[in-house]
Amino acid sequence: MAMDRTFRIKVRMRRFRRQHPRIAFAIRSFMIFSATFGGAYGFVSGSRSENSGYDPNTFAVGASFLFALACLGLATLSMRLRFVNKRMRKLAAHNETLIDRNWELKEAEERARSLFEQQGDLIVLRDHQGRISFANDAYCALAGQGRNALVGTRFDFDVLEQGDSARESNGTRIHDQRITTPHGARWIAWREGYVRLDAGQPAELQSVGRDVTDRTETERALSDARDQADAANRAKSRFLAMASHEIRTPLNGMIGMGGLLLDTTLTPEQTTYARAVKTSGEALMALIEELLDYSKIEAGKLDLDQRPFALSTMIEEITELLAPRAQAKTLEIAAYVDERLPLEVVGDAARLRQVLLNLAGNAIKFTATGGVALIVEPGIWPNEISFLVRDTGIGIAPEARTRIFREFEQADERVARTYGGTGLGLAISERIVKRMGGRITLESEPGKGSTFDVAIPLAPSQSGAGQTAFPSPDLTGKSILLIADGIEASLIARRLERWGGQICLVSDGAVAEALLPERSWHAVLVDRAIGAAIADHLGEVARKHATQRLVLLTSSSRHEKFSASFTGFLIKPLRAASLAARLALTPEVASPELAPEPPAASPAGVVTAKGLSILVAEDNEINALLMRSLLTKLGHRVVIAVHGEAALESWLAASSAGTPYDLVLMDIQMPQLDGIEATKRIRTHEAAKGGHHTPILALTANTLVEDRYACFEAGMNGFLIKPLDRDKLDEALAGLAAARHLAV
Ligand code: ADP
Repeated sequence: MAMDRTFRIKVRMRRFRRQHPRIAFAIRSFMIFSATFGGAYGFVSGSRSENSGYDPNTFAVGASFLFALACLGLATLSMRLRFVNKRMRKLAAHNETLIDRNWELKEAEERARSLFEQQGDLIVLRDHQGRISFANDAYCALAGQGRNALVGTRFDFDVLEQGDSARESNGTRIHDQRITTPHGARWIAWREGYVRLDAGQPAELQSVGRDVTDRTETERALSDARDQADAANRAKSRFLAMASHEIRTPLNGMIGMGGLLLDTTLTPEQTTYARAVKTSGEALMALIEELLDYSKIEAGKLDLDQRPFALSTMIEEITELLAPRAQAKTLEIAAYVDERLPLEVVGDAARLRQVLLNLAGNAIKFTATGGVALIVEPGIWPNEISFLVRDTGIGIAPEARTRIFREFEQADERVARTYGGTGLGLAISERIVKRMGGRITLESEPGKGSTFDVAIPLAPSQSGAGQTAFPSPDLTGKSILLIADGIEASLIARRLERWGGQICLVSDGAVAEALLPERSWHAVLVDRAIGAAIADHLGEVARKHATQRLVLLTSSSRHEKFSASFTGFLIKPLRAASLAARLALTPEVASPELAPEPPAASPAGVVTAKGLSILVAEDNEINALLMRSLLTKLGHRVVIAVHGEAALESWLAASSAGTPYDLVLMDIQMPQLDGIEATKRIRTHEAAKGGHHTPILALTANTLVEDRYACFEAGMNGFLIKPLDRDKLDEALAGLAAARHLAV
């Protein structure tokens, strides 16, 4: 405190000296004078006094002491002076650098300011009461007023149009405004946020605006142009729709008249010409229909119906409609509607039929061998139904898979030339499906075939709830032998399995004949496609073993006669209801002997002198049956084991009895102990005993390389791929016999 006070007094005195140098000089002179005068006077009067005892010696000592003191004082003063001079020089240098810095700062500020002003952005700061505290040149120029006139006022531009405003995460508000200025209306994009310039002051609103008039106007012009183009496009589509509609009427007349002309007596030449007129007319009509449809959809004139319809009826109608076209190319066509689906759904049946007809029509068009299947299943979402159109045709290359859904696009120019078409079908189909709220997806492997999947939401119809189209027969525990090949056969088998039946599907007539005596069959279904003579023969053989013998006919061969040994026939493509009705019937002709018979004498030549003793490990009853009859037919002795554990036991028993098996056929997937594990155990036993090595062949439906490795690793000698037929089995056994022969 005391220090403080003295310091303050000192500062004040110094200030006083600076302010009043004359008064300070007078005071200082007066003080020096009075001190000198006082000293001299005291000294003189002291030395003159009577009783002073003046001693010249002492006087001389005193005088020299004082002189020394004065000299000391002078020396100290001179040192101080030098020190002060040094400080002065230092301060002068420092001062110079400060002046330089000051210049630099001024220049930098100038530069920053000019840069800031050159941006052309408007910058204005307002205090919490909305009064302008700063406005840059651009703002002043746009406002047409000087800065002094603006600062301190609540000036703002008049707003003509206010755009949407958005807020950034840091609180900055962004919005567009159209404002009036002395230079006309301008669009300004503002960014506004609060800034605190001085710690003690309330925050100020900083607005930075950029003139975006040109950009905004260009955008508006573009959007107007697009609207106009859209309108023009719609008008064009409407025109196209009208024109195609108008063209259809005279074209109809031409086609009709062509037909009538063909009914009259014509020379062969005339017939050719008239036919050409008619077919060209029909081709043109088809094209116009598509164009009309397309333009209708484009013009937004696609109104969808919402009416209940029966799913399976529609699908069966489609397959029946396309069947002649497929059969003309010797292709199969078949349909399957999943039982879990509602019988009736609500939607636009006509448009859905159009899409499916187009997809299935394409499937037939682009397939040379095999067939086309239409499969209807529940989709991935509730109430969604998935319509799969699968073919075994040429397939579609990956790069063409999105392109073909665009108008007038075809997968391949060369292909298009061979097959014809306009490339509109898929474009129309996709638009219809999208309009229904669904989607079309495509999976394809070039050379192998394609699958189009149409998934659309279709609600079940209320009126149809709880009904069933036809009573499905109860086939639980009943065996059915289906002798057929191809897409439809597997779909029929799937349906029969759904009804509870045990299905044995064979494609080979000889195998079927061997299987027939094995049990009493509830029904035997024979497809004529395997050959009319074989089919009739099978019907004859089946007489003894099956209650119902049905023959499947293609519609092209429906007028053919079939052997009287059949109890009925079904037309392909099959209707589920007809199949159900047929199978639910009580047998018309009860067969006299239904008990299984010992197998008929095997054809000569097939039976080897000594058949092999073979252990078959197979859990599927029907497959086991098939193996047994095939092998017995070939003259071998067969023992069946129904799981791995049983196979192992049987093998052990036979080995210890001294009659080991010549061969084991081992199914891979079995309950309890699978084929791989059972094989490993057999090999372990053999290794322990060091004796006979039994050949083991795997029976598998899997053709994966990893599975093959697993088989070999477990010690198997090979494998047979299911479904098995006589040739495959014969070949494998011949190979084995040769090996055995060599070993002997
Ligand atoms: P179009 O059949 O009249 O040419 P689409 O739009 O129906 O027109 O089909 C477009 C193209 O898609 C076809 O030209 C063909 O190249 C390809 N395509 C369609 N479906 C199939 C299919 N199932 N298999 C192979 N290619 C197909």
